[in-house]
Amino acid sequence: MIVGCGALGCPSADLLARAGVGRLTLIDRDLVEISNLHRQTLYTDADAKAQLPKAQAAKDRLESVNPEIEIHAIVADFGSYDAERYLLHEKLAKPDILIDGTDNFETRFLINDLSVLHDIPYIYGGAIGTKGMAAVLIPGETPCLRCLLNAPPPPGSEPTCEAAGVFAPVSAIVASYQASEALKLLIGARERVMASMLEFDLWEGARRRIELEPLKDPKCPCCAKRRFEFLDREDEETISICGRDAIQINPHNRIPIEMAHLAQALSEQGTFETTAFMLKGRLNDEAVGLTVFRDGRAIFDGITDPALARSLYARYIGC
Ligand SMILES: [Zn+2]
Repeated sequence: MIVGCGALGCPSADLLARAGVGRLTLIDRDLVEISNLHRQTLYTDADAKAQLPKAQAAKDRLESVNPEIEIHAIVADFGSYDAERYLLHEKLAKPDILIDGTDNFETRFLINDLSVLHDIPYIYGGAIGTKGMAAVLIPGETPCLRCLLNAPPPPGSEPTCEAAGVFAPVSAIVASYQASEALKLLIGARERVMASMLEFDLWEGARRRIELEPLKDPKCPCCAKRRFEFLDREDEETISICGRDAIQINPHNRIPIEMAHLAQALSEQGTFETTAFMLKGRLNDEAVGLTVFRDGRAIFDGITDPALARSLYARYIGC
């Protein structure tokens, strides 16, 4: 299972699909944008113009590369509310490996909780600016992510990829490392899996390895005390989307949207089109774009005020 189909998820999914890994599950909540194309190697200009969901565009591309494997696309937020349900999907077997293609620490700590709770190796990866890092975290053997970091860095303390950008070759290297370690685990070559965390700076030409074993924390809240705080926590219902003026509302206790019904109701309020994945358009009375997904998640483009987004959600979609 690859969580996040961006700069890391694209190359690792590509390598694993071409290697013939039998089943891939791809999860991503975003749509392909032009600004993604320099580093998110599964997508094309046409995907961006069609505003396809990344998970679906990645699935389509990989199926054309290797039609003999099974690929599942999940267009959704990987948050504490649903993550475990996606992991233990009733129609799919439990994944053998969790691969990190995310761009934020909240989701990484959630993946770490799931990895430890369900005993699934977690291949951590990160890319920011010209720096990259990766590590294989195996429950019961190596430290977990909370042994290494304990908690996500406070907001604003670390550069984000929106602010600092990502030098595209960095993410390709991190993803190649992740795919390489995944292939070793999948063929049973456990003894060949790297026992250290890799850190490098491609601009400086610097590289170091940090032995994982000594970092195992006997008091770790997750792998020692088995408290799964990120899985138990409530998702933020309203989040600002970095790098563009947009607010996402992902209501709790949501029920699937009746798309035809909503399309009918919204047709009187603006100009909307329905695709296989979402309903998208602009409202007449507000200077905002609105995208609504089947699971009830909505993105308001052109605003930065969360309270306004919540009130528009209540007005146009319902509670
Ligand atoms: Zn731990």
